[in-house]
Amino acid sequence: MRKENALDMNLADLEKVMFDHHQPKYRAGQIFQWLHRGVRGFHEMSSIPLQLREMLSEQFYTGMPEIVEKQVSKLDGTAKYLLRLIDGSLIECVMLTYCHGNTLCVSSQVGCRMGCLFCASTKGGLVRHLTPGEMVGQILVSREDTGERISNIVIMGSGEPLDNYNNVIKFIRIINQEKGLNIGLRHVTLSTCGLVEGIDRLSAEGLPVTLSVSLHGADDETRKKLMPVAKKYKIKEVIKACERYISRTGRRVTIEYALVKEINDGEEDAVRLAELLKGLLCHVNLIPLNPVRGIGLERPDMQKVNNFKEMLVQRGIPVTVRREMGRDINGACGQLRAGHLELSEKNGGKV
Ligand code: SAH
Repeated sequence: MRKENALDMNLADLEKVMFDHHQPKYRAGQIFQWLHRGVRGFHEMSSIPLQLREMLSEQFYTGMPEIVEKQVSKLDGTAKYLLRLIDGSLIECVMLTYCHGNTLCVSSQVGCRMGCLFCASTKGGLVRHLTPGEMVGQILVSREDTGERISNIVIMGSGEPLDNYNNVIKFIRIINQEKGLNIGLRHVTLSTCGLVEGIDRLSAEGLPVTLSVSLHGADDETRKKLMPVAKKYKIKEVIKACERYISRTGRRVTIEYALVKEINDGEEDAVRLAELLKGLLCHVNLIPLNPVRGIGLERPDMQKVNNFKEMLVQRGIPVTVRREMGRDINGACGQLRAGHLELSEKNGGKV
């Protein structure tokens, strides 16, 4: 029998396991607590009877991923981890240290099938979805390694979270558990390339997380140049889904806009973007493109970025330019993994 990842279970799942093994219900809470403290095995769960620990370790493993590589930015302390999962898959997560607390950028899939032109994570397509426990594992391992509390989670690493919907929702509920990591839902951000049905489903979950939508263009033609998903959903439909999200949750949405030289960084783009977002409860996050090798897209110079920002400000759109974190360590998601996969190809498949 293949062992299951104990971190994939929520409290209700654990209660069922206890029930099946004729154990008192409260044990589920104790085990959940131990798991999210980041134990390396059931043997560490000293308050749990030995027999039960042995039984659990026959059926489950406690799945923290292995750190393959860690890069720390000399500029700002950003720590980027390359992690190996139980099946050998490689994923990344990034710990960003701000004065108001630490944020972990979590991956939701191995690879991605959305195909955005500028993104390193999607180059090799989707390998597989991550399970809830594999997402929790990213938090546990980076917390253990840095010894720091993680107060904010952004699901903005590799993968499209709404393409792995059920696992991502389960993950969010698990980390919100008081007995577990107890991360407030308002401290969780989910970033999507704009899957309209997924946004609508999320609106109905009753989870007040921050929705962040990657727009990267102010009209369909520009968006299509960068994001294949724009062929499926018109920009107007995406904005309407944002409106529904806002009216159901009362939450402000974030609009992400990666500035790509001569593709979407002109003054006319800024004017169109302001027009499109007029009246929407949103905040625009401008991200100067993080150039990925071999793609041929460039970032505009800072003057152009600031000019774009000013155009939005003048039109009453709240906007910030994303502070660049870890520029010296290949900041953009997927680049560390992509580098490793390239190396592995050269070495005949060995990473
Ligand atoms: N699939 C989700 C989340 C992952 S990407 C999404 O599309 O939102 C997180 C953010 O980083 C997205 O806005 C994405 O478009 C952006 N991004 C990816 N590669 C980038 C790069 N090379 N430069 C700048 N932003 C990038």
